[in-house]
Amino acid sequence: MIKGKFLGGASEIGSLGLHLTMDDTKILIEYGLTPTKPPAYPLPAPPMDAVFLTHAHLDHSGMLPRISSQYDSNIYMTESTMAVLPLLLNDTIKVAELEGFPIPYMKEEVENLMGAIVPVKYCEVVELGEIEVVPHNAGHIPGSAMYELKSEKNLLFTGDINTINTHLVWGAKPVKTDVLIMESTYAGREHPPRDEVEKEFLDKIDEVVGRGGIAIVPAFAVGRTQEIMLILEKTDYNIWLDGMGRFVNNIYLKYPKYLRSAKRLKKARNKIKIVRRRSDRKKALKGEVIITTGGMLEGGPVLHYINYLKNDTKSAILLTGYQVEGTNGRLLMDEGILDLYGVKEKIDSEISFFDFSAHAGHSELMEFARKCSPEKIILMHGDNRDTLAKDLRKEDFEVIVPQNAQEIEF
Ligand SMILES: [Zn+2]
Ligand SMILES: [Zn+2]
Repeated sequence: MIKGKFLGGASEIGSLGLHLTMDDTKILIEYGLTPTKPPAYPLPAPPMDAVFLTHAHLDHSGMLPRISSQYDSNIYMTESTMAVLPLLLNDTIKVAELEGFPIPYMKEEVENLMGAIVPVKYCEVVELGEIEVVPHNAGHIPGSAMYELKSEKNLLFTGDINTINTHLVWGAKPVKTDVLIMESTYAGREHPPRDEVEKEFLDKIDEVVGRGGIAIVPAFAVGRTQEIMLILEKTDYNIWLDGMGRFVNNIYLKYPKYLRSAKRLKKARNKIKIVRRRSDRKKALKGEVIITTGGMLEGGPVLHYINYLKNDTKSAILLTGYQVEGTNGRLLMDEGILDLYGVKEKIDSEISFFDFSAHAGHSELMEFARKCSPEKIILMHGDNRDTLAKDLRKEDFEVIVPQNAQEIEF
């Protein structure tokens, strides 16, 4: 008998955690938070024999230090995920301190967690008693994994997936399974063709630089920054990089097998100038393109640059990811206003949005599900799952759209 319960993240994009009971073995997959202000957390986790993490993004990983403080289970993830994880977790502590939120865990707990990690590789079996767990490439960011859990029935937990090849990573391939537990971030939404988005992005930079402005490119440090660098790799602009993405580049290059081309990423990194100290920011403002965190303008060096250029109509802010409701980036997109260090200011620079999502869109999720040919599909990690459920049911799939804390039988 296989049973499961979402501790969070079933119906929202954040705080993901799935607790599974497979015969006598108890498994936790993901234990994330929702990086809102203040952050939201998943339900407390019941005991488990093992923990699996698909990738380092905080909505999947952000509360793992709590698990390792409470239980002494092994925590499985790829080496690339393991190397990026402490950057994001320690940053969570820093943000909590800065914003005056309750501190979710201490630095020592992050260190403690790192000691409990067992690295896994794609396609290499992890044995847990009678159960075999196989990690597969998820195509979302370098080192992101889907987990195939094999027992009386086979389960596939996707984590975040992208099925198209990007510059940074190869797309995820379907895995035949009995039960598919699939993310639904983009349920009901499609992405424009990636090559068109890239062309528009490069044309826009050309236009901005041509009129003497600076293109500010806010990007998430983990994944998006590197994809943007690769798109700009063949251009001749004077490009600067600031924020946490600087460290992530070097980590990814240490684990080249998780990249589509380490050679290209190295080339891209070598042509970009790095902001190493505060005084470099003045030099960056004399450049042409600045890639910097945070992706949703909630904090980070991006605010420094925008504050400086906010009245410059020649410059532009090129958003590269979905701006969640309630974030500073969303405020900018909808109203042309930004909260800069506590003051709401009108931004005169041009604002554009480019869909460089690392998630499969609606049709891609449909196609992925078809090719996995499951008897049952469980949708998670989405706030618009019913649209996807409806389309899947039209094709005679049995679909479950669970709520958090609800007992599911597989
Ligand atoms: Zn993710
Ligand atoms: Zn996610």
